[in-house]
Amino acid sequence: MTSNGNAKQVKVLVLGSGPAGYAAALYAARAELQPVVLTGMQLGGQAALTYTIENYPGFPEGVGGAQLGELFQKQAEYFGAVTEFASASAVDLSQRPFKVESDNGDYLADSLIVGTGASPNHLGISGEVELTGRGVSYCATCDGWFFKDKKVVVVGGGDSALEEGLFITRYASSVTIIHRREEFRASPILQHRAKEHPKVNFILNTIVTEVIGTDKLESLKLKNVQTGVETLFETDGLFIFIGHTPNTQMFQGQLEMTDLGYISVNDRMETNIAGVFAAGEAADPHFRQVVTSAGMGAAAAIQATRFLEASTAPVGESK
Ligand code: NAP
Repeated sequence: MTSNGNAKQVKVLVLGSGPAGYAAALYAARAELQPVVLTGMQLGGQAALTYTIENYPGFPEGVGGAQLGELFQKQAEYFGAVTEFASASAVDLSQRPFKVESDNGDYLADSLIVGTGASPNHLGISGEVELTGRGVSYCATCDGWFFKDKKVVVVGGGDSALEEGLFITRYASSVTIIHRREEFRASPILQHRAKEHPKVNFILNTIVTEVIGTDKLESLKLKNVQTGVETLFETDGLFIFIGHTPNTQMFQGQLEMTDLGYISVNDRMETNIAGVFAAGEAADPHFRQVVTSAGMGAAAAIQATRFLEASTAPVGESK
């Protein structure tokens, strides 16, 4: 990293410190490109908030999400990656080097790897924002402990809802999973575990329409989507796991994206701008696994290395 006026000049700037970001940093570091990783708000990304990851190869008994994140970081830094605890706030991709503004100053990057991940979706109902942190949560690993011997509701029917719901059974007296349909999206193994668990109950074909409480969550208003019948359900906790939105707003108007905001990449992780690559959940609406994000990160860094080697390439379209 060198200094150019007030801006730090880097060969490879990686945005995001999740599996995609640190896998990219590892590969770029081993190519002796001294990558700099801007961590973003959540060091380790969403994976670091997961209690146990059982499907990342190489860990037959599973590995803690935070622990795996630390190992990713340590390995990348061992080969020369630099971690900066900062979040990017604006990018200018109109010319190389690309300019990235952050709360740690400006960077000029010869190549950029976007691994900014995704953030949890909200239900968007009355009371949800007001009671977040007072009974409403989006992170079981962070907040599950607060619900020791309490009644908890989990909303969602995907892997996250069932996996995190099962995790909360360590603390809560009961976990009621409320899902808007009859069928679950979650993998059969998680469905089986949840259905067999003595503390887990299900309310199906039902949505939460209101979060009720003054100082803290007291109850939820539920609506059966088949009958239209509304009921009140008393609970101490509400955990919402209804999918994610990619953290790509900063790149709107510069990088091509899908309608849902995922950055469009080709099979080499190249975006529409030569020298800018994207990996992980910011660019992946399909798989969103730790292993696939890490794979995308590695691929992006390999391609960034080739790009820099060839690098009299003009700025502009790469596809
Ligand atoms: P997801 O698979 O998109 O599931 C979201 C769930 O929330 C769906 O069941 C959906 O219902 C429901 N939902 C969406 N909007 C809703 C709303 N407004 N009100 C009520 N319910 C709503 O998201 P995810 O569970 O976070 O998983 C994301 C990805 O990560 C997936 O690819 C998953 O396989 C992966 N993941 C894997 C693991 C693992 O392998 N152990 C763990 C966690 C996540 P519908 O089904 O009706 O659409």
